[in-house]
Amino acid sequence: MGDMIRAGAATDVGVVRAGNEDSHLVADGVYVVADGMGGHAAGEVASEVAVAVAKGLVGRTVKPEDVRAAVLEANAAVLAAARRDPVHRGMGTTLTGLCLADFRGTPHWVVFNVGDSRVYRHVDGTLTQLTTDHTELAELVQAGDISPEEAVGHPLGNVLTRAIGMTPAPEPDLDVFPVAPPERFLICSDGLTLEVPETAIAGVLADTDDPGAAAERLVTMAVDAGGRDNVTAVVVDLRR
Ligand code: MN
Repeated sequence: MGDMIRAGAATDVGVVRAGNEDSHLVADGVYVVADGMGGHAAGEVASEVAVAVAKGLVGRTVKPEDVRAAVLEANAAVLAAARRDPVHRGMGTTLTGLCLADFRGTPHWVVFNVGDSRVYRHVDGTLTQLTTDHTELAELVQAGDISPEEAVGHPLGNVLTRAIGMTPAPEPDLDVFPVAPPERFLICSDGLTLEVPETAIAGVLADTDDPGAAAERLVTMAVDAGGRDNVTAVVVDLRR
């Protein structure tokens, strides 16, 4: 299965921010984006710690429950790192991605999410967001208190309801479904979706065969559109 996967990634600090607090992982069967937050470069530490824990999933036969365990382990690791250094107190990160797993003896994808980074699936020209943002705004929209139109540019869009580095530990959303090649996935930090409309994202994913080139194009578009946040894109292709 692993040899049927091609993947690539790109990341950029953007135009406004002093440092890049996003981290990502492209490894055999494990693809992750983490968007760190916290002053004094603590966000960079949080996202690196979370991705390092997720890397523990590489090279083993993964079950869906192993993915959940890794996310909870990442939460504990970020909390422990924050306790060790007062400068890092209160740091946090999103942790979002895609992992190839064995479920009842057949290969499945496990999509996991804590925070407001996203996983999209792109098949037959259609882009579908697989994850739900853990923001105050997304929850208000889901409850019907705010319409999707009212939600555009709303300040509560930046307030996370779940993040890695919280007590009590946040429960990750998990979505488990059989692999169905050919299929393409995008994992991205909010720095991409803040700047680039989904129609344009879908266009790049449709037009750019090489996953690394697609990731580079998406990140460049976000930076050219204003680059108000760090931006990271991971593109994963499962070939037939
Ligand atoms: Mn961000």
